[in-house]
Amino acid sequence: MIERRKIYNFLNQQKSLFGNELFSLSTNQVNPDLLSHVQNSLDGLNQYSKSISLCQECSLGAKRNNFVFGVGDSNAELMLIGEAPRKEEDMEGEPFVGRAGKLLNKILAAINKNRLEGVYLANILKCRPPDNRDPLSLEVDKCEPYLLKQIEMIKPKLIMALGKVSAKILLKKEIPIDKMRSTVYDYYGTPLRVTYHPDTLLRNPDFKKFAWEDFQWARDYLAR
Ligand code: SF4
Repeated sequence: MIERRKIYNFLNQQKSLFGNELFSLSTNQVNPDLLSHVQNSLDGLNQYSKSISLCQECSLGAKRNNFVFGVGDSNAELMLIGEAPRKEEDMEGEPFVGRAGKLLNKILAAINKNRLEGVYLANILKCRPPDNRDPLSLEVDKCEPYLLKQIEMIKPKLIMALGKVSAKILLKKEIPIDKMRSTVYDYYGTPLRVTYHPDTLLRNPDFKKFAWEDFQWARDYLAR
């Protein structure tokens, strides 16, 4: 069953693109063909999430409170990727919650986006490593294919890797984050930029200006 909230946000986005063609003005009903398209798109991700939600491919599966698949717009043009769920994410089953999530929401609002419209949030690992340690190679090998499938379904125009750990895993290279930020990388055919993780911004407020530059760049890139 798809969530009304997601349908509402998606339809609003489509209406801004296609105007009233989407709706039957006389009956105030949604065009059934387009509703079917929306449902297929949302259901596809939901069904995929359900199909892997009991995964035990690595040892983290046995210890999780929640499988943290991802959240957002199934047709997002911008996808934000962290390395793994933290404690609050594991408890709530949603990526980027708590103080870091609130800060990320503010950053997204500043570029006229939010986590339900135009943006999709996910982590490389879907289960929390103990004590928030960095993901192990074996865990990444097992879990990264799930992320690749999400990207294939969402088809974002741009990926932003949040933090040096996420960047290192996705790009298979270790370069200081301040040197990575100005480069557009390629992640299996999708452009990828690196910026700071919101947790890092909470610990080092001086870095916020750099993150702001990165998200402004992303906004302009997506507007091209
Ligand atoms: S972290 Fe990924 S591979 Fe490991 S159990 Fe969870 S979903 Fe499966």
